[in-house]
Amino acid sequence: MGCLKRFIFGCAVLSLCGVSFADIVYQGKRVQAWPAEAITKFDNTRGARVQSALSPKFAPAAEKSHYSAPKGKIYGLTLLVDFSDQPAPVTKEEISDWLNKEGFNRDGCNGSVRDYYLDVSNGQLDFTNEVFGWYRAKYPKSYYEGLEGYSGSDILMKEVFEYFDPQVDYSRYDNDKNGVTEAINIVYAGAGKTWGQGLWPHAGWSNERRDGVLLQKHQMTDMPGKFSIYVFIHENGHMVFGWPDLYWYGDYCTMGNRPNDWNPVVINDFYRADQGWIPFVDVTAEDIGKVSTTAGEQCYRLKNPSRPDKEGLVWSYVKNDGRNKTLKGSGILMQHYDFSIDGNSAADKLGLRIVHADSKGKNSDPENDQWPSPGSRAGAFFSGTYNAFSDALYPAIRWYNGTETGLKFTDVSINEKTLSFCLGGDCSTSFGSSNGDSDEPYTITEIAIATELPISNNYASVTVDLQGAKVASALGIAQNEIANKVSFYAVEPDSSLNSNTTGEGTGHWFDNRGYVAKWNTNGPSVVFSNVNLATMTTKVGHMPNLVKPGDTFTVKQAVVYKNNQVTFTITIKIPGADNPTENPTDDPTDKPDNGSDEDSGKDSTVVSDTSTTAIAQLRQIPLDLSNASTLYFDMNGNVLKSAPKQAGIYLMRITKNGKAIRQSVIRIK
Ligand SMILES: [Zn+2]
Repeated sequence: MGCLKRFIFGCAVLSLCGVSFADIVYQGKRVQAWPAEAITKFDNTRGARVQSALSPKFAPAAEKSHYSAPKGKIYGLTLLVDFSDQPAPVTKEEISDWLNKEGFNRDGCNGSVRDYYLDVSNGQLDFTNEVFGWYRAKYPKSYYEGLEGYSGSDILMKEVFEYFDPQVDYSRYDNDKNGVTEAINIVYAGAGKTWGQGLWPHAGWSNERRDGVLLQKHQMTDMPGKFSIYVFIHENGHMVFGWPDLYWYGDYCTMGNRPNDWNPVVINDFYRADQGWIPFVDVTAEDIGKVSTTAGEQCYRLKNPSRPDKEGLVWSYVKNDGRNKTLKGSGILMQHYDFSIDGNSAADKLGLRIVHADSKGKNSDPENDQWPSPGSRAGAFFSGTYNAFSDALYPAIRWYNGTETGLKFTDVSINEKTLSFCLGGDCSTSFGSSNGDSDEPYTITEIAIATELPISNNYASVTVDLQGAKVASALGIAQNEIANKVSFYAVEPDSSLNSNTTGEGTGHWFDNRGYVAKWNTNGPSVVFSNVNLATMTTKVGHMPNLVKPGDTFTVKQAVVYKNNQVTFTITIKIPGADNPTENPTDDPTDKPDNGSDEDSGKDSTVVSDTSTTAIAQLRQIPLDLSNASTLYFDMNGNVLKSAPKQAGIYLMRITKNGKAIRQSVIRIK
């Protein structure tokens, strides 16, 4: 019984990760999920791109991502360790190929880990791992494996971090420069031995601080000598982006079940759109028209109008080829999300769930592609037999408060590469052309402005004129109407409009490449531009201690009215060292480094509650097991009469008041 008890509490934390069953180990103890302080926090302001269904030609605005949203080149660190009784089965170069090489195909892998993230991100995320090793551990593998709990892996982790310190600059792996690394992978020679003990693959936590950064999280995984990419991709999905395990979800995302180790399915299109890798297209219950899309091109979204920041339906065309070859069907895959629901483990209300097309006419939409029969089903997709959705056809699909969604589409059809459907049940018009405005050309007027900005230790700004008369003329309105009529944005370097302000009022902080950043005295936020739309001027300043003489920054902001946009390209030059300028507005009463409350932007820094929600989502409430009962299934889905004793892999399902509250994969050795 003692053993069984250990299993219940131990297994509840397991993800449906398949045979690696990666545990999360926090301060030596297995936990259900990372505590808040250990959740990856990446900048999420460079988030999703959004366009409205009514005017698809409108330049897309942006919204904050619910998860960390790194873009561009991101570095992970991979440290290799082997043992006197278990020498390295492959070379460091082979490991580097596995993680980074274009077209890597050893043992049937569909590309490297880097290839995978490049593909699913539409080339927007270049996740490169730098590999060091092999380090020969002080003791044989059997020593670490034999120690109690995960103490062996803790000892090995410290050894590894220490050994590599002289050759590794750990601060390089703090990609967003917030003092904490994002992705450290420790790969050891040989296979994992005992679940929950020794070096069994797991995600770990440490207080180790090296090169000025906290090496907070890492994942430790085994290298038995055969290559596959699923586990590495999935674990880095947790580490780099903070995505949760999608329990009760099926094979439709690599954060869900584990259908294929060598060709894992893509990250689901909702998370992809949340990252900004594909656009969200927002529709309302009133929109009508014929919609056409190619697979994975965009993610349609209907927000619950009464809880628009929390709940919605999202759908996209998912096709079972390429990286999604494992899926059993193609068509519209619809999902229902609710960011106020923690975790993804309850059977009835999930943070993210599949709306199964074949639940048509039914009063419930049971998860039925889960363990004990995990996978995907053709009936999950809208096409063919199930080619329409409406509240009447799908009585089980409602907003979680019970009201109808108002969503209706019909005539889902697939013609070669394109899937189309009739939004609102009406295909008499083509999508988007119902709005006359969208047929007018969208014009962008550029205004280039250059300013010098003296170095300041207290956020002192210079005021720059934004040429209000010219702006008004370009927008076709009077100058005194600007403040009331325009929408204000930052323009990211990829030309997308970002509606989130991070500076003071209508203002932004930017990093040194011109991306919008959150105020942070350690960077990446370096310069700000706080616009006053009433006077059409902007105050430009910089973060104390983060600029030097000779630096130049280019930041862009824009105002938009109807189909006209005016973009301000502001070049900010810090005067050269040979030409020091006294701080013109230096106020001697300001305390250095504290920042003046007037101009710092600090008070108006937007602290997104969505990031808190994302953190909450990864924290699972401890299970109350009173009055709960436990069922065990074998791999064929048969219910066992009692707890399994024979060696093997099983599914454990805990139910309470007739509802499943948790299920986990367990392995008996
Ligand atoms: Zn997982």
